[in-house]
Amino acid sequence: MIEKLTPEVSSMIAAGEVIERPASVVKELVENSIDAGATEISVEIQGGGVELIRVADNGAGIPFDEVELAFERFATSKLSVADDLESIATLGFRGEALPSIASVSQVTMVTRHADAESGARLEIFESQVRDKEREGASPGTIITVQQLFRNVPARRKFLRSPGSESTRVQTLVTRYALAYPEIRFHLTAGRSRFASLGTGDLLEAVAAVYSRDVAQAMLEISRLEDAEDETPSVTGVVGAPTVDRANRNYISLFVNRRWVQSRALNVAVEQAYHGFLKERRFPMAVLNISIPFEDVDVNAHPAKTEVRFRRQDQVFSAVQHAVRQTLTAHTPVPEMRRAQVTAGGFSDAQRRAVSTFWPVQPFSRGSAASVQTNGEGVHALSDAGLPFEESLSPKSALPVLRVLGQVQNTYIAAEGPDGMFLIDQHAAHERVVFEKIQADAAASAPEVQILMEPATLDLNPRQQELLQDNQASFAALGLLVEPFGGDLFLIRGVPSILAEADPANALVDVLDELSEGGDPETWQQRAAYSIACHSAIRAGKVMTHQEMVALTRQLEGCNQPHSCPHGRPTMIHLSATHLEREFGR
Ligand code: ADP
Ligand code: MG
Repeated sequence: MIEKLTPEVSSMIAAGEVIERPASVVKELVENSIDAGATEISVEIQGGGVELIRVADNGAGIPFDEVELAFERFATSKLSVADDLESIATLGFRGEALPSIASVSQVTMVTRHADAESGARLEIFESQVRDKEREGASPGTIITVQQLFRNVPARRKFLRSPGSESTRVQTLVTRYALAYPEIRFHLTAGRSRFASLGTGDLLEAVAAVYSRDVAQAMLEISRLEDAEDETPSVTGVVGAPTVDRANRNYISLFVNRRWVQSRALNVAVEQAYHGFLKERRFPMAVLNISIPFEDVDVNAHPAKTEVRFRRQDQVFSAVQHAVRQTLTAHTPVPEMRRAQVTAGGFSDAQRRAVSTFWPVQPFSRGSAASVQTNGEGVHALSDAGLPFEESLSPKSALPVLRVLGQVQNTYIAAEGPDGMFLIDQHAAHERVVFEKIQADAAASAPEVQILMEPATLDLNPRQQELLQDNQASFAALGLLVEPFGGDLFLIRGVPSILAEADPANALVDVLDELSEGGDPETWQQRAAYSIACHSAIRAGKVMTHQEMVALTRQLEGCNQPHSCPHGRPTMIHLSATHLEREFGR
């Protein structure tokens, strides 16, 4: 039954306007549908939600004579005495959402209570009831919101483009789909659609929101041993370290199935991945924290997305432990493998692939071309007739190095004037590529590889917007992208260094970096990191002697050859004196 809260109770509730933008409307309506026990919720928006928002559910519905009450301030069926505030189990509780929405829009509600024979239709325009009548309807509730903020131009001014508002709605609906896998969600936003199956299987929901591949790479949180009932229990799935992302947007956290945004808990998740992910890469996670209702205050923030815990440290460590334990349980300790000696070496195709990986020109000074390979894949300490080319010495901080061979398919062993160097091939190549992209972008002269077969890419409205707003910067990086109708885009050209990587993935990463904000210079640098990381040769990849020489030459030409763009060392130096000392000479 819907009742009005007494003023004493209502004044205890965080005041404030909950309706800031279309996504806030959708949030409140969807939460009401969930509270009403719906198993199917469908959301439709037009014009970014400003023109129209419609949320339909098959939940409990509202009895005919309570329909208007639902739109009165502090009228709720979910809470009556102040004590209830201590233990809030429903998503809504303030009785504030419907009146707030109705005060800034035109609302039509069609609802039929499960026990009623017919339904009701109510029209409200800017808080005034315009019309109420009986109407045939199937059980459940359909609320349509139109002309949002028509009477509040100030708020309208703060809205982003329809595409961007629409993305917020999509993000929101997909989070709820993750939190409630047993509910079938359906979303139509312009040309974009989303649907979850509502099977109750979290991995199915993950597959619907992200992709089947991602779902397959998710690890289920292992149950903590001796978990007492009191401690917050953490359930859900986290991404294997192989599915890292460029920003935090892929971490979804819920407290008692309420979506929350918490810096502290994000940090707890990220810390658990320490050592599993490269720097500046972020994990994927869908986690629910079940905690006794009295230990959490969801009433701290008008939009209810921030929560306060009675014992924050306890929640923090529960999350960190659960994630860490899952990762260590699923990830075998890497074993030191012996360097494999591959007899055949590279195929011609691989050779070509590798050569396009390299930015070459500025730093190679033609030396790579003149060196012969010995025809084998890996060459422990072979010197392949490589002369110690003093004449090629660049004026950098690095001496000219003579490549000796590859170690663990990961490090290049080289000799310098003062002892020996071990170069991390991935870190070194990242450095080389990064500086090359930076230099090209600064000169607005990227080396572009036109793709014979342009790659297509499905972008969400937010990504499309970022792309449009930053055309020039993308072009400077060498990413040539054009619209291809609908949400599809064509990647026509990529920085030549990226030609063999997956350009679509790289572009999405760059867009993710961009969406983190900041001024163009910083995001362009972060974008350059992404590109460098995508194109850099991996650890574990067999390199020919010629390739190692080319890479070493390029590294010698770098401005900061000693560290990769993320600050890890590219090489270790064992000086002649050090060796002498170690050998007691
Ligand atoms: P709250 O959710 O905080 O109770 P709202 O203003 O969002 O406040 O909703 C007021 C009341 O209207 C709810 O308590 C509920 O009884 C009823 N109601 C709103 N939406 C629905 C729905 N989709 N299905 C059934 N009842 C609803
Ligand atoms: Mg509500």
